[in-house]
Amino acid sequence: MSNNINNSVLGDEKTNWKVFTPAAPAYKLEELNNIFIEVTAKNCNQRCSNCYIDFPMSKNIKDFIQIDKIKEAIEDTKFENLYCIYLTGAEPMTHPDFNAILRLCLKRCNVCICTNASFLNEKKIRFLKKVEEEGSNQIFFKTSLAHYNEIESDKVKYRGNYRQTLYALKTLSRYNFNSVLSIQNFYKLNEKEIKEAFNEIFRTQEITNTDLQITISHPDFEDENFAKPSQKTDCMYGRTLCQNGIYTCPFLADDYRGRAGSSFKDYSKTVMAETDFCATCSKNNNYMFAIG
Ligand code: SF4
Repeated sequence: MSNNINNSVLGDEKTNWKVFTPAAPAYKLEELNNIFIEVTAKNCNQRCSNCYIDFPMSKNIKDFIQIDKIKEAIEDTKFENLYCIYLTGAEPMTHPDFNAILRLCLKRCNVCICTNASFLNEKKIRFLKKVEEEGSNQIFFKTSLAHYNEIESDKVKYRGNYRQTLYALKTLSRYNFNSVLSIQNFYKLNEKEIKEAFNEIFRTQEITNTDLQITISHPDFEDENFAKPSQKTDCMYGRTLCQNGIYTCPFLADDYRGRAGSSFKDYSKTVMAETDFCATCSKNNNYMFAIG
């Protein structure tokens, strides 16, 4: 598992930056169970106000992963015990070859589509059910909200996101898909309050087959738990595939600090968790991206 090497937190009063260093935990890849594919690096049909991506003004072919890259990754990991391939984004369903990518990944294992839900109308969901029924592996969905209150959630995401997400969850449920609703606890609400509120929403909206995942959005650097190593991080059980190589996790996709190698033939199995994103993981003490 992880090695705690006397963590400490430094603050810089002038810049107000907080740095998770110098002695960060080292996380070892225990088993490659999850692959996160950054299907499109910088393409989304929405603009959430809290999104960390700096979107370009126009589309570029380089924003989309090439399907050959995914074929190569699946071939290179054929002896690994993969549980799930996660299709992430920005918004993965904006990739022009999304359906082909989905079918390719489904031949290997279960697939989780991490989406803003805006493409999930009934026609699309019916189509995805047919795709799932072509084989034996399952499609899961991961959507997210920031609050159980529509106005507060949409302030963090985008206008209309709350309704689209609940509509998608309800329709997915009718088509017997399993989904996860990730609550990015931006407002630092009490977890019991979040669970009770959403359980009531699920009940009134007749949403079944949906699990809640509550993750913190910002670490509290003054909290003493912040410096404790996590028992379960995404980098202990997975790696992220981008067009230009392998990265430790989706947080650090295309970030030189998360670079693990150029392909699954040879990549780093150890992570020095020294970024501010790693601090979030340590505080959360569970997967931030994977489900289960
Ligand atoms: S941010 Fe990524 S590399 Fe750092 S601890 Fe979390 S999962 Fe691991």
